[in-house]
Amino acid sequence: MSKLPNVGTSIFTTMSKMATEYKAINLSQGFPNFPVDERLINIVAKLAKENVHQYLPMAGYPPLLTKIALITKKSYGRIIHPETEILVTAGATQGIFTAIQALIDTNDEVIILDPSYDCYEAPILLCNANPVRVSLNDDYTPDWEKIEKSCSSRTKMIIINNPHNPTGKILSESDFEAFESILEKYPKIIVLSDEVYEYITFEEKHIAAHTREKLLNRSVIISSFGKSFHVTGWKIGYLIAPEHLMKEIKKVHQFLVFSVNSICQVAISEYLELVTVQEISQLYMDKRNYFRHLLKESRFELLPCEGTYFQVASYTSISNENDVDFCKRLIMEHGVAAIPISTFYENNKDHHLIRFCFAKDNATLEEAAKRLCKI
Ligand code: GLN
Repeated sequence: MSKLPNVGTSIFTTMSKMATEYKAINLSQGFPNFPVDERLINIVAKLAKENVHQYLPMAGYPPLLTKIALITKKSYGRIIHPETEILVTAGATQGIFTAIQALIDTNDEVIILDPSYDCYEAPILLCNANPVRVSLNDDYTPDWEKIEKSCSSRTKMIIINNPHNPTGKILSESDFEAFESILEKYPKIIVLSDEVYEYITFEEKHIAAHTREKLLNRSVIISSFGKSFHVTGWKIGYLIAPEHLMKEIKKVHQFLVFSVNSICQVAISEYLELVTVQEISQLYMDKRNYFRHLLKESRFELLPCEGTYFQVASYTSISNENDVDFCKRLIMEHGVAAIPISTFYENNKDHHLIRFCFAKDNATLEEAAKRLCKI
């Protein structure tokens, strides 16, 4: 008997595979196609000849932990203890899995806000716990009344994703106030805040959970170097959590991974001396603006995009098909791959919306837009 009977191949893998088969431009799975910073490549080449190939301490390479504490202070003013409150993980995905495995018990409930990224539900099910999926409002703001009604003594965790994949929304000050007032009534609830796109925000910065005094002692906050430094294939990220939660998370991590691959940890640690994470938003804001400009004459209607490298578009003036069929036809007939938003919902709710990834070089965006404008 399967432990995950309803889990199939992820939509990101499916669409990328189809894009390759049909030689379509792949704006589906979220990964950059432009070169990695040459300075980072040079660091890796240099390190390959050095003594960096054996196990590192379980929680992470100590100089990297110190630098993560420094970025957190510089970006959010939060002071954290490198030895007790940080864990380097094999990508955000492993961080999320590990935190859920460590903190969720049989029959606990975990609230997930739909549309939601795909890696939250399976680890909850593997704990014999219950995911409770609550839809965001039509404008993708959280419906705090509905969320509060879904909370009970069984609720152990609420997962938020800010900036949000797939919609590009960021949470507002009033969202945090509403959230915190619910949490005050439920002292046992832990917050899992997936902030992998924290350094990809545009007109306004996102409000990090790190800056919310009332959340600090109950939150696990997830970051991803894969996103921040355009190296998604390196699978490296980190968690920040108060010591009482981190102690439990580390117990699982040491048997799941023990320590994350050494050369990437040392390379990122050295690279952090050369770059500031605050530079990243500008690169993606230019890409977002350019992609939106290129699609101005198309029949797609572009939704607002406040952060992430994803642009959601409505195709209602083009077709009535469901979004999965539309995406398949987009690949086969027009040579562009995108992600259907219905796959981010529990019941595959279809609003005729699709997601494009604009983390691509300009030539790719131009060719994709040319094809999309012809539809
Ligand atoms: N996070 C990427 C996206 O949203 C997908 C990564 C994956 O394929 N698991 O497109």
